[in-house]
Amino acid sequence: MPPVTDTRDKYRVGSLELVVLSDGTFRLDAGAVFGVVPRPMWEPVVDDLDDHHRTSLGLNCLLLQSDGKTVLIETGVGDKGRKSWLASPLEQGNLLSDLAAHGLRTEDVDIVINTHLHADHCGWNTRYLPAEQGGLAAGHESDDKRLMPTFPRARYLAENVTPLEESGRLELVEGETRVTSEVVIIPSPGHTEHHASVVITSGGAAALYVGDIAQHRVQLERTAWVSAFDVLPLVSLETKRRLMERAVQENALVISVHLPFPGAGRMTMTPEGRRRWQPL
Ligand SMILES: [Zn+2]
Repeated sequence: MPPVTDTRDKYRVGSLELVVLSDGTFRLDAGAVFGVVPRPMWEPVVDDLDDHHRTSLGLNCLLLQSDGKTVLIETGVGDKGRKSWLASPLEQGNLLSDLAAHGLRTEDVDIVINTHLHADHCGWNTRYLPAEQGGLAAGHESDDKRLMPTFPRARYLAENVTPLEESGRLELVEGETRVTSEVVIIPSPGHTEHHASVVITSGGAAALYVGDIAQHRVQLERTAWVSAFDVLPLVSLETKRRLMERAVQENALVISVHLPFPGAGRMTMTPEGRRRWQPL
């Protein structure tokens, strides 16, 4: 995969600088993205359908420094070659190249936060050992014992990732959990039972990394538009309503993993009282 150097974007939240990094783009069946919403309703709002009725999804990860710690939220699909679940191959992107383009090494990352453990959110948590360290030749990637943590100094926050657990780097969190004085993990169930989002605050400003509560902006605007991937759709609906009300009230910068890069915007209200996504 070619290095990506032109897909970073920066936002200021109080005294913090937030950098969106990309692990690429993939295409997914739009009918699955929109779940029970009838096609005549969703088709007019999807402007990038391909011949197979697929829409493009971003893989937006977020990097910031807080309390002297380098925090990375989400790690994309990674490079372990298990992409059969994807409807199409990645079109571009490599999180590690993007990290390097920002002048950071993997060992500079102190904390990794995963909103949940679907394969497109924690892929770069681990990678295969290089051959000189006992790694296997290409084609033998299925041996999990050869996996190692990608970010060797990081404190991982995730549900269950065996190589990280074995190396003592896995920390499970439950409920609202403060990571630094400016970064707090909050429960946002629905997509998965324990899906989490991240609130970032500084100097009276706020950002919400909402994770996988939506794959398309219209799902943030219309609460009832829940994806077929959400395991608890009614809970998902309530979570979206709560988070988007908060985003409007706090005029928060919202970052969504699967919206087109960089996936950042603000949720506003129209004079008619409808939510409207304003991309940045
Ligand atoms: Zn996802």
